[in-house]
Amino acid sequence: MPGGLDLAPPLHELRALAAEVAASTVAPRAETVDRDAVWPAESMRALGEAGLLGLHVDPELGGRGEGMLALALVTEELGRVCGSTGLVYGMHCVGSKVVAAKATPDQRERYLAPIAAGRHVTSLGLSEPGTGIHFYLPRTTFRSEDDHLVLNGRKSFVTSGGHADSYVLSVVREDRDLDPGTFSCVLLDALAPGTEWSATWDGLGMRGNSSRGLDLVDAPVPVTNLLGSEGDETWYVFEIVAPYFIVAMSGTYLGIARSALEVAIEHLRERTYTHTTGPLGTYDTVAHRLGELWGTVERTRQLLHHAARLGDAGDPASRPALFAAKAEVADAVVRVTNDAMTLVGGLGFARDGVMGRALRDARASHVMSPTTDLLKTWLGRTLLDLPLL
Ligand SMILES: Cc1cc2nc3c(=O)[nH]c(=O)nc-3n(C[C@H](O)[C@H](O)[C@H](O)COP(=O)(O)OP(=O)(O)OC[C@H]3O[C@@H](n4cnc5c(N)ncnc54)[C@H](O)[C@@H]3O)c2cc1C
Repeated sequence: MPGGLDLAPPLHELRALAAEVAASTVAPRAETVDRDAVWPAESMRALGEAGLLGLHVDPELGGRGEGMLALALVTEELGRVCGSTGLVYGMHCVGSKVVAAKATPDQRERYLAPIAAGRHVTSLGLSEPGTGIHFYLPRTTFRSEDDHLVLNGRKSFVTSGGHADSYVLSVVREDRDLDPGTFSCVLLDALAPGTEWSATWDGLGMRGNSSRGLDLVDAPVPVTNLLGSEGDETWYVFEIVAPYFIVAMSGTYLGIARSALEVAIEHLRERTYTHTTGPLGTYDTVAHRLGELWGTVERTRQLLHHAARLGDAGDPASRPALFAAKAEVADAVVRVTNDAMTLVGGLGFARDGVMGRALRDARASHVMSPTTDLLKTWLGRTLLDLPLL
């Protein structure tokens, strides 16, 4: 159903593999994941067995060494059948990319090799209750003590909270100036001392992503778990964290828009009335509305792929394109799920099936940072040559 994607053969194969896992393992569990707010363990295991957890890991370690376009493709296939799984997988990929970007030999062995082998899931904890969507302003601190860094603070909405094997956290040195964007990233292992997860996630949508708060009270992590060097911070934010975060979420939400569109197409093909001949889709007004939705999904996909390709090529023009892509995807998924629900009529509304889930999951797109507000502001500031932060 997507238009021509113009992909190199390895990316075609990767997309087909993701679609296969999505159909065989992720889709059959999507309803339970949503209804019971269950973290998608079996689906993540299947993605590991298919060699998809190491998407961004160096091939020398058994990974695929892929970039942003691959991430957009895989998350779209997952988001199409289960938004929560798309998000969990996407945050794993962003976390693993942050680790891979400047990994030490020790980090390659302890984290990246198990990730590539499909045995380790990671995630990302940037947001904090105190600074909300302004994820580049963490207030969680670290101080050095012997061969450890000691963490104190509170993270909010950590995807895969309580389920991942490790978490990439943003932290600032205790006595440092709190300039925007100057944070370090550290790896926290699951079950580390001094950590406590808040209540389980019971969201309106994305119900399986286990987005939870995390309290850190004098939590020690080995000094070897610092990612990159102090001073790399702004590089991490704008070269790795933000672009990969944007692509992972855009792919997932695009997949959700696509699923709603597919449900609408099926309904318009099959719905017939006793008093007329031909299915509902033969009414011109209805076909016209469907056509508009397809155009919205397709042009948004093309913008995302264009931005991801620029990102993979290291082109500075990727920055505004990526900002625009996530903002456009968020607008598109909310519109498409809403309008597709109307096209499917009372049947779509009556039962909380795929359409209801898509509508609820879609709504998180605007509030996940960088939010649409933030992205449009950053885009404008980029065009005006103003500093982003
Ligand atoms: C399902 C889900 C999963 C998530 N997963 C993760 C994760 O894995 N890791 C992680 O780190 N975070 C995650 N988050 C957190 C997310 O990225 C946001 O940080 C969080 O939702 C912010 O919520 P808030 O209530 O603090 O928003 P607030 O900061 O209170 O913002 C409220 C609204 O005000 C707008 N706003 C705020 N400041 C400005 C401004 N200066 N200009 C214009 N508009 C502004 C925002 O755009 C937003 O729409 C997740 C959130 C959700 C809902």
